[in-house]
Amino acid sequence: MSEDCIFCGIVAGEVPSYTLYEDDEVVSFLDVNPASDGHALVVPKGHDERLAEMDDAAVAATFTTARDVAAALEDALAPPGYNVVQNNGAAAGQEVDHAHVHVIPRTPGDDVAFGWQPGDLDEERAEELVERVGEHL
Ligand code: 5GP
Ligand code: ZN
Repeated sequence: MSEDCIFCGIVAGEVPSYTLYEDDEVVSFLDVNPASDGHALVVPKGHDERLAEMDDAAVAATFTTARDVAAALEDALAPPGYNVVQNNGAAAGQEVDHAHVHVIPRTPGDDVAFGWQPGDLDEERAEELVERVGEHL
């Protein structure tokens, strides 16, 4: 638990939330400022800031629950699609520094925006990346 962390406050029951699901490892609740109807968050109970800091058990529980929440949203609301989003660092849009996963139901023409301009993968850079990143895996 981290002082001043709003999600730790929710995990501890000190901050109210509309809880969809809870077990020993994770809690899932509705986002207070939803991008779309049904926008849910899945939050591991342990305080890690980013995905790469989480241990295997926390990752497994978080993403298994994200799958289950997605399936439940499909069963309950039948959205034509959904995004699973996980932001790490302010540069990536992370506002709450407690790792979490968004499950965001999507409908055609909604005003939820993700996106980037597709680039071209440079062959030389690709080979360099395979080598440089690969040696850390
Ligand atoms: P991030 O940008 O860090 O990936 O997403 C944080 C999300 O947490 C935002 O979508 C924001 O609306 C949501 N959020 C922030 N504070 C609270 C809160 O106190 N309760 C709930 N339910 N959601 C929150
Ligand atoms: Zn926290």
